[in-house]
Amino acid sequence: MAAMTRLFRSSSSSSALCFIQRSLSTAAATEFKSQSGPPRIDPKDRNVQWVFLGCPGVGKGTYASRLSALLGVPHIATGDLVREELSSSGSMSKQLADIVNQGKLVSDEIIINLLSKRLEVGEEKGESGFILDGFPRTVRQAEILNDVTDIDLVVNLKLPENVLLEKCLGRRICSQCGKNFNVASINVKGENGNRDISMAPLLPPSQCVSKLITRSDDTETIVKERLRIYNEKSQPVEDFYRAQGKLLEFDLPGGIPESWPKLLEALNLDENEDKLSATA
Ligand code: AMP
Repeated sequence: MAAMTRLFRSSSSSSALCFIQRSLSTAAATEFKSQSGPPRIDPKDRNVQWVFLGCPGVGKGTYASRLSALLGVPHIATGDLVREELSSSGSMSKQLADIVNQGKLVSDEIIINLLSKRLEVGEEKGESGFILDGFPRTVRQAEILNDVTDIDLVVNLKLPENVLLEKCLGRRICSQCGKNFNVASINVKGENGNRDISMAPLLPPSQCVSKLITRSDDTETIVKERLRIYNEKSQPVEDFYRAQGKLLEFDLPGGIPESWPKLLEALNLDENEDKLSATA
């Protein structure tokens, strides 16, 4: 992690964003093929360096944060880092607002800079391992990450586009505790051989109800643009990891109650009730 932080730092200050390839992971990369699932290992003994891919609204944050609590590694969402920067009075905030509110991607340089700073803070706190959510989003970001560390698993969460749009429009965030909820009740009939998808709303507890906000980029026009950009810039990242045999494709079967146990099964993980109850 320390070396990854350093190299990210050096990469973000270099205009070419290119540097000597070194293997910096503290653990050897796991030989992983998506068909067989990762080997069953006690979560505590596992050096987790995972990436969550998937379209906007698919639930990367929800599942990555649950797994982060289960495995005891930090969940680092670059979207959260961008929103933190946006809400600060920092010099980049106006520039970022314009980009995010058009549904566009922030430059690789800015995002790597924000990620480096986050990793530095984590390093000071003694963090090890990570679950990255929303990074890498371009092949260039994936190549940079590949140059600085070994990613052992990439989970690609999938839902049909019409469900993604409904989910983004129904997303609500508690402005006080930061938790995500969803007011949409989704019942989509599968077409062209696709399965039906039902998802119950994920409603907030009473103390959050009056504090709910929506993300400024969760409007229909902006979500459609984010989906278009995902298909153009981020789908090639799926191919990048597929070629490395690290991609675990996961079609979400429904909402959290149906999907979470199946995801754990696909990851060869056992549920640890004590830790999970703390994240609900
Ligand atoms: P998210 O919460 O992941 O949907 O991210 C919100 C917004 O932050 C995105 O629409 C982008 O503008 C920006 N962003 C987050 N992660 C990245 C990234 N890895 N590369 C470029 N832009 C990003």
